[in-house]
Amino acid sequence: MHELSLVAELVEACSQRAGGAPVSLVRVRCATTIPEAALRESFRLLAADGPLAAAVLEIEPLEVPLACPCGSTAAPAATDVVGHLAVCPSCGAVSAHAATPGLELLEVL
Ligand SMILES: [Zn+2]
Repeated sequence: MHELSLVAELVEACSQRAGGAPVSLVRVRCATTIPEAALRESFRLLAADGPLAAAVLEIEPLEVPLACPCGSTAAPAATDVVGHLAVCPSCGAVSAHAATPGLELLEVL
């Protein structure tokens, strides 16, 4: 449940920024290697009771390219990434995917 811990940190950061005031919108930048559905589900769960309960989660996709020996720098989809290993969308080789920031908080309104 990698997403859950990421979102737990996000919810914590949002609450601090909002200082207890109700939040209506949370904008994040999120690596496309993180499944968006899992992210939204985690957010809904963790924000359910608190100042973020009514907040809309806006996700800006961040493509994290894979540096594969075949020369491809295409960004692997979430389904192509397992932990820190990714399957190259071009040649199918498995390589280590650079550790990404994953989730970045942009704005809390
Ligand atoms: Zn490749």
